[in-house]
Amino acid sequence: ATPTALMVGTGRGAQLGILIKGPEALESTHGIDTVVLDKTGTVTSGTMTLKDVFTAEGEERDEVLRLAGALEAASEHPIARAVARAANSTAKVEDFANVEGLGVQGVVDGHAVLVGRPQLLAEWSQHLPSGLSEELDRAWARGETAVAVGWDGKARAVLTVADVIKPTSAEAITELRALGLRPILLTGDNETVARTVAEAAGIDDVIAEVLPADKVEVVKRLQTEGRTVAMIGDGVNDAAALAQADLGMAMGTGTDVAIEASDLTLVRGDLRVAADAIRLSRRTLRTIK
Ligand code: ADP
Ligand code: MG
Repeated sequence: ATPTALMVGTGRGAQLGILIKGPEALESTHGIDTVVLDKTGTVTSGTMTLKDVFTAEGEERDEVLRLAGALEAASEHPIARAVARAANSTAKVEDFANVEGLGVQGVVDGHAVLVGRPQLLAEWSQHLPSGLSEELDRAWARGETAVAVGWDGKARAVLTVADVIKPTSAEAITELRALGLRPILLTGDNETVARTVAEAAGIDDVIAEVLPADKVEVVKRLQTEGRTVAMIGDGVNDAAALAQADLGMAMGTGTDVAIEASDLTLVRGDLRVAADAIRLSRRTLRTIK
């Protein structure tokens, strides 16, 4: 495209709520056939709230929230925010560590506490009693995110948190499809939860339980298969994938790291604007041909 066409396109983008990093960014949408969407914070609101606390026999709900809540107060994850907010715990945390893509660990009030995926607890030989494991499966089937809590060598509770799909997501997916693009939902969350969200948003293809470091590998694999890929995300764990994609689009409501890694920012965090961006670039490129 001519510099003038790109400048006009960039200006039009600003009006639509699309922040375009450089004029070339508009050209990179050329040939996009696949849109990879992060789940939490991109297709969903990203603001989670604590729903249920299921405890193992003999465990107290208050104690679960006191220990798990204190630990989660040290994490930025949307799940952690929901738990910390509901618990409002003042217990003292030492040796906090984030276990990438799995959860958190630390010493709370002298107890060695784990909160996260059942796999994280299993690494410490903490296995959920069957009743809790069933609650976990049921929560996942409802599309809720559920995490396990254990301390001092024992799995003791399951916490469920719920997120909502943004009201605009399904419409955005319809628009992206109408543009001939294939949407794929990509998430670190559980497969069943991912499928439930995908179904509600109108997405058929799901790649779930992907570790943060592997999101970029998924984009690379799709590119190797001959696809031209747009990635839309908001999190720190999306940054590498956003940079790798042929077109990276960050939610303006997301983290700075994601915004820096992207070609475009959807200022209001409205997924429908991603379709506007693709349309705008197609028009801009057509102007000069
Ligand atoms: P996503 O942002 O797509 O959910 P993450 O890689 O951040 O992916 O997290 C993957 C999974 O790891 C979460 O669904 C959750 O089960 C677990 N997890 C990660 N961080 C935490 C945390 N701070 N507290 C509880 N669980 C966590
Ligand atoms: Mg996210």
